[in-house]
Amino acid sequence: MGSSFTMAKFCAINAENLLIPLRIRLACSGTMAQHACVALSSEGGGSMQEQIFFDGPGRNGLQPGAAATSGDGGLPVFPVQHFSIHGRVFAATDPGLQLALASIHDDAERPRCLCVAGGVEMYVARHRKYVVKRMPETGKDHHPSCPSYEPDAALSGLGELVGEAVLEPEPGRVELRVDFPWTRTQGHALPRGESLAPAEITVPRRRMSLRAVMHFLFERAGFNRWTPAMAGKRNQGVLCKYLLAAAADIDVKGIPLAERLYVPEPFQESTKADTAQRRREKLAILQPHDGHAPLALVIGEFKACDRADHACRIWIRHMPDAPLLMPTKSWERLARVHASLLEARDADTGRRIRLMIAALIRARRELTYEIDSASLMLASDQWIPLEGVHECPLIDALVGQERRFLKPLRYDAPQGGVFPNALLLDGGAMPIPLHIVSAFAGAKERTAKEKAVAKSECWAWRTEQPMPALPSPAA
Ligand SMILES: [Zn+2]
Repeated sequence: MGSSFTMAKFCAINAENLLIPLRIRLACSGTMAQHACVALSSEGGGSMQEQIFFDGPGRNGLQPGAAATSGDGGLPVFPVQHFSIHGRVFAATDPGLQLALASIHDDAERPRCLCVAGGVEMYVARHRKYVVKRMPETGKDHHPSCPSYEPDAALSGLGELVGEAVLEPEPGRVELRVDFPWTRTQGHALPRGESLAPAEITVPRRRMSLRAVMHFLFERAGFNRWTPAMAGKRNQGVLCKYLLAAAADIDVKGIPLAERLYVPEPFQESTKADTAQRRREKLAILQPHDGHAPLALVIGEFKACDRADHACRIWIRHMPDAPLLMPTKSWERLARVHASLLEARDADTGRRIRLMIAALIRARRELTYEIDSASLMLASDQWIPLEGVHECPLIDALVGQERRFLKPLRYDAPQGGVFPNALLLDGGAMPIPLHIVSAFAGAKERTAKEKAVAKSECWAWRTEQPMPALPSPAA
């Protein structure tokens, strides 16, 4: 692309084949979460393509390698992102881009993403390579089909946590304030008294639950975002790799989350000894010291609970050789609280529903892992987080019709009715909220939903009626 090309010419010339829109979006005000996204796609066989890509503040620099095309026949995962640098236009896939980014890394020149007319200002950061990152609070200024697009945090439960429990003390580094401890006093089930800063005593801050942390990781890892080329490419290896990658820039109580997060590797009979050894090495962190028992976070797919005399064995998929133990009473409490999620796996959806578990574990004895506390979350067969069974037909329709969408997550919001069940990203210059008004929802939830539906231009499905046709994709 020659330097004589102006952006306007470029947009006009490429509008059709590169999906670069010509409409100018009005900049919206409001708080935008500076959280990350590692979108997911892999070349067949489970190995992720990985390349440094263009991401927003707080992202860890991993994006779908197949930004231009996937490995299965040229289907675009995202439109190729284009940047204007010193008046020249570079595609995300342009080999000359690194040099161009290096040339402006230390000066005031900023690259602009050309997904909308006029472009959106971004900045250059250096990780293993130069990466183009989103400026704070600009995620929603990108076109919904742009990899740098992020919806307004107010469209999910994240909005309530940003600035309170989700902090970004420095660009690209996220600190989470959580309501669970990283340590137990040995021999006691109660949390060790934690020293609180004076400000925290007088101004109680919102803290994230285990479930909210699981939502944050899934969102940051891009599992709540879907493009057609991701079909069939998510698996346990992808889950493991990208949840850990998402954790790489997160601190929880001053400790890097990646140090304490264990996600099972894909289980294979032939490599199980090595896998188990790596697990033991990772979980060696549970070794008690000075009377304190550190905790670790295990995220995986719940398989089954075996009841024994005094404790239950919780089996996680891909960990057939290492159950997590849990006192029977604790399990019963968990099962009671999450009864609807446990039952969801037996629902007549015609699809597999996954039940994800985030378990805080400790070692009571050497190599004996016991669950301290846990939370559950539903996910589709493609690991898209679900709020409930009522969302399955919509997610199925979206995936089946090869649509691009994003699933807003509830985090710790008391009810999810106000949030869209999905945001359609391929319906034009603005995302289209998709709402489900379930006939089984409680009166409060239904009222919140109807209010949200009335408030915005959106698509709504009242489940006592057949699902209406989805809004058409933009040409
Ligand atoms: Zn963009």
